[in-house]
Amino acid sequence: MNALEIMDGLFFIQRGYLNGNHFVYRCREPILIDTGYLAHFEETEQRLRSLGVDLSQVRLIVCTHTHCDHVGGNRIIQDRSGCEIALHRIGKHFEDTRDDWATWSRYFGQEAAFFECTSALEEGDVVDIGPHAFRVIYTPGHASDGIVLYNEKNRVLISSDTLWERDMAVLNIRVEGSTAPHRMLESLEKLEALEVRMVYPGHGSPFRDFRGAIKRCRKRIQGYLKDRSKIGIDLSKKIIVYTLLMKPGYPEASLLDYLMTTHWFPETVNFYFGGNYRAFYDQILSQLLQRKVILRNRSGLFAKVPS
Ligand SMILES: [Zn+2]
Repeated sequence: MNALEIMDGLFFIQRGYLNGNHFVYRCREPILIDTGYLAHFEETEQRLRSLGVDLSQVRLIVCTHTHCDHVGGNRIIQDRSGCEIALHRIGKHFEDTRDDWATWSRYFGQEAAFFECTSALEEGDVVDIGPHAFRVIYTPGHASDGIVLYNEKNRVLISSDTLWERDMAVLNIRVEGSTAPHRMLESLEKLEALEVRMVYPGHGSPFRDFRGAIKRCRKRIQGYLKDRSKIGIDLSKKIIVYTLLMKPGYPEASLLDYLMTTHWFPETVNFYFGGNYRAFYDQILSQLLQRKVILRNRSGLFAKVPS
């Protein structure tokens, strides 16, 4: 399935985990919501072209936050089309000041290119995606510039990384600060006030069980608040998988050496687990192999989740 028309002219394009899901409103001057991961730009372009969308005609990109898997195509598309790019006010500040720490890309060693953010969004703003009005709801927690987009008429929520169906996006308290789990809970509370028929998340398939997803997410955060080390375990698993999506076939013998060169890995092990890097790495890797989330073969390690 390439794309799903979720409202008149508005298409949902499901990707995997390296790339966030994204959207296009197809018209003479197309509007995009999020643009995937930079290294997979060719596929992003291909998916959009197969819908008849010419990226040089794009008028506007709205991004749900500045993480690399959601803004990856921005720079190239803006260079080609001169399009406007809208972000939450805080995300605009990150781009304006070229803050690759706040956008996580330096912390996790991810690929990303800065772009010119031309307009700042605020809580309560209405963004017109063609004839479809979406309200901006500011939902920090996962990302301090995170927003979701809500269409009241159709009761559709574009939830990005604020709400997934069963899992939850990384909580990164080392960059976002120790209040991040609390902000996430407040964001869920805001979402709970909405009437939602269908959720289109940043990763994974669309889903209807909006209240169930909120409940599961809240439970996960309560677990984090009881035992902070769970944040470190969840984050490490997700980022190791993400690293293997960025670098498929990485040689197993040198993966720990690579991780030790990043900002996130030594710091995470120090902070949550007292600095025993090798033992922690072995434990996480064996769990991921056992669950078949990653696979070992002769040429190296591979993530077994869609990219
Ligand atoms: Zn994110």
